[in-house]
Amino acid sequence: GSAKPMNRRYRKTIIAGNWKMNKTLSETRAFAEELKPILPKGKWCDVVLCVPYVNIPAAIRLFKDCRVAIGAENCHYEATGAYTGEVSAEMLKELGVKYVIIGHSERRQYYNETDLTVNKKVHAALEVGLRPIVCVGESLEQRELGVTMELIAYQVKCALSGVSADKLRHVVIAYEPLWAIGTGKTATAEQAGEVCQAIRAVIRKLYGARVARSVTIQYGGSMNPKNAAELLAQPDVDGGLIGGASLKPEQFVEIINAAN
Ligand code: PGA
Repeated sequence: GSAKPMNRRYRKTIIAGNWKMNKTLSETRAFAEELKPILPKGKWCDVVLCVPYVNIPAAIRLFKDCRVAIGAENCHYEATGAYTGEVSAEMLKELGVKYVIIGHSERRQYYNETDLTVNKKVHAALEVGLRPIVCVGESLEQRELGVTMELIAYQVKCALSGVSADKLRHVVIAYEPLWAIGTGKTATAEQAGEVCQAIRAVIRKLYGARVARSVTIQYGGSMNPKNAAELLAQPDVDGGLIGGASLKPEQFVEIINAAN
């Protein structure tokens, strides 16, 4: 695993799976049966699985007695009301959900998620005690234009606007370059480390050094058993948000082992 004893004094490494629109209820059960016997013990990293809404109650039951916390992949920003088909943060909280992904690039691309709705959802999640995993990331075009750092800083500032220092401890940031998601094209460890370091610098400016060093910042985008250790060895990369490789128990376990 990646030994980073200095950072571990301040913040937790978090390995989180993002199942996206994958796995039925029976497939969720089969995954749990396969994963639980091979799940490494270890205490250094927290393990999360973000699953489709309908599988959340079953996932919470299935993983009740192990180190896997359950997360959702989205929530609405209003507490209640006439929003057909939507799910509130409070509904998730009552089920026993601990985390919620906010502003994943697929939601920004396909479902009109904006920096404003991301900010509202971050507040909605924190309000009920869910930990938001806030996704930020640049497209290939933006990277080639040389505006990655400005864009990421802007996304982070928008997402965190109005969030108190006290609440910020519960926020996780996931840096996910769009060109690396589901493409098999991973950012180099240096690229990932550089942007995660810049994100921490933005938080430091807004909240001060003490808060900034306590925030978990993940990398996401084609993280797999082969590249995980190198990415996680970067001083400011405190975990991963894992799509494809979180669907396979053996692969997910190998990534947890790289962080343990
Ligand atoms: P991927 O997805 O690991 O399949 O690239 C990551 C994500 O979208 O969170």
